[in-house]
Amino acid sequence: MLIYVVEDERSINEIECYALKSSNFEVMPFYSAAELKKGMEKKIPDLIVLDVMLPDNDGIAMIGHMRDDVRLKNTPIILVSARSSEIEKVRGLDAGADDYITKPFGIMELVSRVKALLRRVERRTDRTNLLIAGDITIDEQKREVIYQGQNIYLTYKEFELLRYLVINKGIVLSRDKIMENVWGFDFQGESRTVDMHIKTLRSKLGQGRAIIKTVRNVGYKLN
Ligand code: CA
Repeated sequence: MLIYVVEDERSINEIECYALKSSNFEVMPFYSAAELKKGMEKKIPDLIVLDVMLPDNDGIAMIGHMRDDVRLKNTPIILVSARSSEIEKVRGLDAGADDYITKPFGIMELVSRVKALLRRVERRTDRTNLLIAGDITIDEQKREVIYQGQNIYLTYKEFELLRYLVINKGIVLSRDKIMENVWGFDFQGESRTVDMHIKTLRSKLGQGRAIIKTVRNVGYKLN
């Protein structure tokens, strides 16, 4: 488990790193928001211990940016601050921090909060997100499609298309609607793109193809 410790006060940074290392975590220290940014470009950690008051940025604002970034959306963050006021805690948690710890804190407390948060995250990822339609199961987390126990290998867009059909099963979806949702509003393709992908999707599903119905002059529907 790799933890990034972001704290500009060197002595506190050292103590935090030492405590986490002693608990067998791999730790990397950072002393500013800019350094953290660089570190993140190289590798995304399993957890971040983040000081609110950094010389070059505000921790809470940084969390907001991280949560907007797909790669960092789910990275567990413990916010550390000297400010004990409730409003700061609320601001931090609202911005997307997973936990909040107030300075001064005992080193044992930090370690146990880190462990508790990692346990929580593990449980979160254990609970797989399955979408089911007939014999087709989509594991959203693993991006896997299983038909009658067999893995079906789909391209990125085929997967997105099937996922969209499954979420809307029983509903007639026009080609335009499918285009909008699977390819995005600004995609300048023809609706033939949808038909082509439906065709490859059907052929990959084999026997399971019957689940995708063509609705004449409109589009498609999953039964
Ligand atoms: Ca600070």
